[in-house]
Amino acid sequence: MDFHINPQQREMVASVRALAQTEFKQTAGKWMDGTFPWQNMKKLAELGVLGMSVPEEYGGLGLPILDTALILEEIAKVDYVTAMAVLGEAGVQTRVIARYAPDAIKDRILPKVVSGDCMLAVCMTEPHAGTDVANYRTNARIVGDRVILKGTKTLISRAPEAGMFVVFTRVDGKPGREGIGCVLLEPGTKGFEVTGTYHTMGGENLHEIQFNDCELPLENLVIKEDGFRRLLSAFNTQRCLNPSISLGLAEGAFDEAVNYVRDRTVFGKPIADHQGVRWKLADMFKDIEAGRGLLYRACLTANPFPDPFLAATAKIFNNEMSLRVTSEAVQLHGGFGFTDEYPVSRLYRGARYGSIGGGTSETLRDLIGKKIVGDLDVGEGILSLDTY
Ligand SMILES: Cc1cc2nc3c(=O)[nH]c(=O)nc-3n(C[C@H](O)[C@H](O)[C@H](O)COP(=O)(O)OP(=O)(O)OC[C@H]3O[C@@H](n4cnc5c(N)ncnc54)[C@H](O)[C@@H]3O)c2cc1C
Repeated sequence: MDFHINPQQREMVASVRALAQTEFKQTAGKWMDGTFPWQNMKKLAELGVLGMSVPEEYGGLGLPILDTALILEEIAKVDYVTAMAVLGEAGVQTRVIARYAPDAIKDRILPKVVSGDCMLAVCMTEPHAGTDVANYRTNARIVGDRVILKGTKTLISRAPEAGMFVVFTRVDGKPGREGIGCVLLEPGTKGFEVTGTYHTMGGENLHEIQFNDCELPLENLVIKEDGFRRLLSAFNTQRCLNPSISLGLAEGAFDEAVNYVRDRTVFGKPIADHQGVRWKLADMFKDIEAGRGLLYRACLTANPFPDPFLAATAKIFNNEMSLRVTSEAVQLHGGFGFTDEYPVSRLYRGARYGSIGGGTSETLRDLIGKKIVGDLDVGEGILSLDTY
């Protein structure tokens, strides 16, 4: 295992860090009412960041997962909402379009993703079924050379901004997980409607959308069956990118806490000079370092996709670690930590997302537990040298 970060990676991370630590840090509070951070997305597009997951032939960078994780980590240190918006452009939806969409859609949409002119939305969750994907009710009925899409999706990010929706749906009413495919839909399609908005504790809005017999060309049905199993590798990539946001939030809150306890004086000396406070900082530091190690290691197993077991482990640990660390950072700020005056309350609220999206901690623990009990070879010890 070699965490060597090459000069090109360092240069990209340094340019994103410079932008994030100056401009994004100043404006992060602006997005807490659900306003979409278009201005940040445009600046990131200028750096090439929005094309991280887009193949080079469409003007993207086609970066490995570790590079993408490092960039998301930098943005999340100061601005959860922008990091989540960037994840939307680097996530499973981009991979579905790049791999499965007809050439005409790839040619039209992917360069716009790179330039920041097309946000992508992924529609999986339904009002009665999030984790329980086998119970999806949305259906794509094939009629000749057309597909008629009907159903409701909820908790969808970026619905009003999106230029393309990647919709997981039952196909022709076929039951179970295996009956789920994937269809591409553009806003403006007759029968498509954003029907509800939820404001979240992280700042961004989520939306309910309806497909009322939306008629689409058959070629937009890009996956006809067994969509989740066929896309497992892409979901494992997502499971490395989601925790990179958690890691960044923890690091950002840690930096804020260190600055605060050095400055704030109580009982005649800086808070930092009290041993109990230093111990808290030491615990936060070791938690972050453990999370970083797990995450980078999972990313480095990508060939081209990461090991599912290590990705799930890195995700659970970083999601939960960032909640502990951001919470301690609020605590170290005392009452001011609970106000909007300091960034830590924002970072803490953002950290709450990680273990819900991209596979909940409960379902991922289930996956890890099943593997341990089932087919893990413990003959030479669970972590034999072969795994490094
Ligand atoms: C900020 C944010 C952005 C989001 N963006 C999108 C988006 O763009 N597109 C989209 O499709 N969705 C999106 N979601 C929705 C998200 O994917 C779902 O919330 C998530 O998949 C969980 O589904 P659910 O909310 O229906 O919870 P449920 O499936 O109802 O689960 C509720 C609880 O039960 C637990 N549980 C479920 N099954 C089991 C089990 N077998 N054993 C033990 N515990 C279990 C879960 O882990 C969870 O803790 C977003 C959510 C958030 C918070």
